[in-house]
Amino acid sequence: MGSENVHSRLLRLFVPQEPPEAGGVCALSDRQAHYLRNVMRAEVGQNLRVFDGTSGEWLAQIKELNKKNTLVSFVEKIREQVNSPDIYVLASPVKKEAFDFMIEKASELGAKAFQPIICNRTVIQRINEDRLQTQAVEAAEQCERLDVMRILPIKPLKDVLESLPLDKKLIFCIERAQAPMIIQRLQGGDIRPPLAVLIGPEGGFSPEEAERVSALPQAHPVSLGPRILRAETALVSALTCVQGLVGDWPPK
Ligand code: SAH
Repeated sequence: MGSENVHSRLLRLFVPQEPPEAGGVCALSDRQAHYLRNVMRAEVGQNLRVFDGTSGEWLAQIKELNKKNTLVSFVEKIREQVNSPDIYVLASPVKKEAFDFMIEKASELGAKAFQPIICNRTVIQRINEDRLQTQAVEAAEQCERLDVMRILPIKPLKDVLESLPLDKKLIFCIERAQAPMIIQRLQGGDIRPPLAVLIGPEGGFSPEEAERVSALPQAHPVSLGPRILRAETALVSALTCVQGLVGDWPPK
């Protein structure tokens, strides 16, 4: 049984705009125009898929493709909207390549939003939000999700914790702390979305931070096994466990 349908080989682009309607036309961004023209060598008349993040996926057709304009028209809706579970990632920026990797993987693994945080030991404190948002869009285009992971403005950990809603469970990934294994903890059944996964910076959380987080009623400290993982590995491992046990992988 293949899940591939007649449209699954078509190019797929994100077009943030008013909800599409059959026959409507929209312009693509410079990035997408460049991609279609110069990378994919696409032509007028070619079919593709587009999604706007909120109203499902549409079959579309290239109407114009030249230096001045790239226009596509909507043909018909081919998938109804499905949103990712309410799973946030709270993580500290690391070196550019590793952080790009984190954004891409969080997007592919279906996180709803990514909150960059500044912890006591965070070295890199400035990020280019727009560039990271574009990475999240590109990951959404290629992994077939229908919504786009939002990149939130960077904030000190303290501020994020202070404004954490009471009903949002916090999966606190903490190494060397005798915390229960993440799988065991999630199998308990009391932790489900809405939730946030908290990963520390390369230098780890300071003892004061670890104490402050552990004291929150929403916090559930967990271990990701006996080895010390890099932040990017920790993020992929934790999100995999969360999606697999309480996210959108289990059968409905
Ligand atoms: N330099 C620190 C490790 C930081 S690893 C040290 O040597 O102790 C970066 C982040 O990944 C940590 O803050 C934690 O959130 C997560 N992490 C890494 N390994 C982990 C593990 N085995 N269990 C839980 N979290 C882990």
